Amino acid sequence: MEEKIKLYPSNWLYNAGVVGLLKVLEYNKIGFEINEQVIINKSAIKASYEGIFQYHKEVLKENFSIWGRNKRYPNYIQYGQKDFFKNYYIEALPRVEKNGNKKCSWCEGYFIPLELLKELERKFSGRDFSAFMEQREKFQGIHFAGLGAAITEVPNSFWNLNFSTPICHLCSYLIIFNHLAFIKTSEGEIFINAPHFKLIWDLNSFAENLLQKSKEYGIRKILGSSLLQWAIKRRTLLGAWTMMNIEVIVKKGDIIDYFDLPQDITKILLDYEIANLIERINEEKIFDLILRGKFSEIEKANYFVLKAILKLKKKEEISENDPITKYFTKYQDFNDLKKVSEILPELYLKILEKIGR
Ligand SMILES: [Zn+2]
Repeated sequence: MEEKIKLYPSNWLYNAGVVGLLKVLEYNKIGFEINEQVIINKSAIKASYEGIFQYHKEVLKENFSIWGRNKRYPNYIQYGQKDFFKNYYIEALPRVEKNGNKKCSWCEGYFIPLELLKELERKFSGRDFSAFMEQREKFQGIHFAGLGAAITEVPNSFWNLNFSTPICHLCSYLIIFNHLAFIKTSEGEIFINAPHFKLIWDLNSFAENLLQKSKEYGIRKILGSSLLQWAIKRRTLLGAWTMMNIEVIVKKGDIIDYFDLPQDITKILLDYEIANLIERINEEKIFDLILRGKFSEIEKANYFVLKAILKLKKKEEISENDPITKYFTKYQDFNDLKKVSEILPELYLKILEKIGR
């Protein structure tokens, strides 16, 4: 029996489930491998069930429940099935295998083997075992309370996310971790998604760190800064397709929204040299220009920087209405302006090169 399972990126809900699972594993010091794909030991599945309750209690200071009426996964299982689920179903889950007859719309398809299902049926505490199992093989309301409207009205464009799509026993389990991947911001809870698990993991942890500095950052800024940091810290080239499919899932009550940056901006922020120049300039106002795609303003900014340098040299006052104030906070700092005036032209050229203008 294969002891490891390789998980490939899929739709955002699945990816968020995997990331939530990894958070629980990490908290419990259970190892896993993460790159474009994630590799877990099958034994981690069982450990993660205990782990998810512990994580809620200790990290989130919250009581977690998946049975009966509960706020996150209403009726995922019935109250009376609690013990059966823990003592038998979760015990069986690490033995999932690929199944020739059944398919999963999200992953390679991991199902509890038939002979094990028969054993489970004998232990089942409710009346209708097949109805119970059917719920583990179809994506539906029990898997995500707030997703109803989001899925029927705004179908996720390029990955299968419709109700009643067949899924496997593993995916049906992974879903209950998805809320752990979301980060609280002033604009709602967010999850940065991409077709690359290490990238997802990094971007979201950069975002979390940034939000510790200020809770007020908007989603555009959070995504932009995470991309920038990724470029600086990882110095890895990403494929065009990967870059094109970085998106932020925004959860606001029952509403799910999507946010992404224009292609050019993503490309620029993920370029190591450009990211490095932006970092050295260290001015939010310039970063905001780039985030809004106002590249030609960089040239303008440099013009006013040079003028400000001249004024400072001549000991002239720079007034609060001076155009430089639109671009720089530290406009009284001669040395800083001097440094910036050397970087801005290079930054502008590199950006033009990158976007082919
Ligand atoms: Zn699956």
